Amino acid sequence: MEVVVLGSAGWFPRPERQTTCVCVRTPSTLCLFDVGSGLARLAQPEYAWLLQGDFEVAVFLTHLHLDHIVGVTYLAALFPGRRTTLFVPDVRRAGDGPVWLQRLVRPPFFPHTLSEFPLPLQLKRAQLGAVSIGECEVTARLQRHPGGSLGYRLGDALVVLTDCSPSEDAGAFAHGARVLIHEAWTALPDPAGTNPAPHSSAGEAAEVAAQGEVGELLLCHLHPLLAAGDLERVLTAARAVFPLTYLAEDGMRRSVRCSKAPSSLP
Ligand SMILES: [Zn+2]
Ligand SMILES: [Zn+2]
Repeated sequence: MEVVVLGSAGWFPRPERQTTCVCVRTPSTLCLFDVGSGLARLAQPEYAWLLQGDFEVAVFLTHLHLDHIVGVTYLAALFPGRRTTLFVPDVRRAGDGPVWLQRLVRPPFFPHTLSEFPLPLQLKRAQLGAVSIGECEVTARLQRHPGGSLGYRLGDALVVLTDCSPSEDAGAFAHGARVLIHEAWTALPDPAGTNPAPHSSAGEAAEVAAQGEVGELLLCHLHPLLAAGDLERVLTAARAVFPLTYLAEDGMRRSVRCSKAPSSLP
């Protein structure tokens, strides 16, 4: 399968980094982990190969913050006629995630409701545990973040953990994954920050990678206002703990093998 980072920023897009979107293409499926503004990159010619062949679309949202869901309004343009399933997590305390999404994607915020999109769209509540998608299995875990969020694992190929406080069991969830895509909002934790912090630092992401003995770590959901020197510090902080770390870039691609069964989930 091919893993392509379409958006590597958090919060808001910059020309070089759109907001969070990770695309996984298998022979029968196009999976998207979050659909931030990075989803729009699929309209660029260099990504046209991802849209070739007969496939269905599966979208896994980590949570409903706007930088992760704005691309829901792009789906009709990018995948007309494609069978599309949208897995939407509940929002802690506020409840039903699919209902909140339907309240947002409708007038006056958008000209059309989700049910008017010209594609066979199914809204499903994202559940903890595993769901089969094409050749692989996607497993979700609950994370701490304002409103809550989900982390996802795709077989033994890929783990996507973003918008999450550090937690002790993240390494076990990621264990043995060939690629771990983990947020890195700062280089180091803010000692005076809120507890629990809403986001993870680069060092904390690298701890997860080391505990999980993953193949490599890609740092994503990067702060859009960090200059090149700041990003270098983010990378250095992570590599001090887990050397096989890279900054995710929009367009970064990995070819990864996937076994259906997750290798060693707790
Ligand atoms: Zn975010
Ligand atoms: Zn968030």
